[in-house]
Amino acid sequence: MTDCLFCRISRGEIPAAKVAENDECLAFRDISPQAPVHVLVIPKKHYASLNEVPADEFRVVARMQDMAREVAVSEGIAATGYRSVINTGDEGGQTVSHLHLHLLGGRHMKWPPG
Ligand code: 5GP
Ligand code: ZN
Repeated sequence: MTDCLFCRISRGEIPAAKVAENDECLAFRDISPQAPVHVLVIPKKHYASLNEVPADEFRVVARMQDMAREVAVSEGIAATGYRSVINTGDEGGQTVSHLHLHLLGGRHMKWPPG
């Protein structure tokens, strides 16, 4: 999508601190980190949210999670622990309408989230 923020980051039109990339996904640091490690993993293809991923393309979500797991290792939080979360829709806390997974770590996480 032309005017989508994360599509523009994916195309390199808006700068971002990239930490990992492959053919389908991109990981970059959140601009407003909520933990010592806060990385966003996105599919390069635009999906407005998890709700918009067709069943036959759902494998992309596994690839996002796989990249998050790799970044947890490279960021040094795999052993201490981390949280990976996808916010969906207004009440789910989603503010950017391009599917993304948050990888958070480097501090103790509270549960339940607010
Ligand atoms: P959501 O609330 O939709 O689950 O998460 C959106 C995330 O995108 C937020 O954590 C926010 O800080 C981050 N974000 C918003 N705009 C930008 C940006 O321009 N660059 C980066 N790197 N992160 C952004
Ligand atoms: Zn997009």
